[in-house]
Amino acid sequence: MLLLWGLSARAETMRSGFLMSGTRYQTPYFIKEGEKSGPTIVVVGGVHGDEVAGYQAARLLKSWRVEEGTLVLVPEAHIEAIRRNVRAYPRNMNRLFPGKANGDAMEKLAFEIWTLIKTSKPQLLLTLHESRGFYVQDRARYGQTFTFDFDELKPQFAKIAETVNASIEPPLYKFQIKVEAFDTCPTYCAWKWLHVPATSIETTRTLPLPLRIAMQLNACDAFFDSYGLRVVRPK
Ligand SMILES: [Zn+2]
Repeated sequence: MLLLWGLSARAETMRSGFLMSGTRYQTPYFIKEGEKSGPTIVVVGGVHGDEVAGYQAARLLKSWRVEEGTLVLVPEAHIEAIRRNVRAYPRNMNRLFPGKANGDAMEKLAFEIWTLIKTSKPQLLLTLHESRGFYVQDRARYGQTFTFDFDELKPQFAKIAETVNASIEPPLYKFQIKVEAFDTCPTYCAWKWLHVPATSIETTRTLPLPLRIAMQLNACDAFFDSYGLRVVRPK
């Protein structure tokens, strides 16, 4: 009995709300707080509506139990682009950060996501994306990379790539580090304005979807572990 008590599941609390409430862009967010305090990590999927593994992985993260720390989750950032299965609608929200409170719909959506990131005071921001090609074959592509904006983040992210890659066999599928600055994307703004380390996780769309989702989740898991967010993945 004592042993069972020691192994019993810890309580997690989950709060949720909506971004862009009452509009066609209305999308849920979730704040999953472990019983023990710890770091906060924000994960955003679905910024681009046709990058399926990104938002499907983010949806699955909702069922991961947080034991220590806080996971803030926006699984389907641009839900209208997801519905239409298009990259952007009507324009690329990923290039509008930190957004505008009184701007057009895309600027407002970026602003609401940015506000959630800012008020969460995270230790890390992850955005889940996909690309059409492999970075190792074509340097203009992003597939199978952690893409981020600042060289100073290289050491910490390269170490995590190494961890994730240990379980990936084909060299082509291993995650590479790509540094490329886009000054109006969320990962750039997070480090520049909040000093929050931030990266995109990019998988390649020509790979089978279940594999891409698994790689997104394994990468998230390695980031969580490295930053001290303790989670239990469902079996
Ligand atoms: Zn993308």
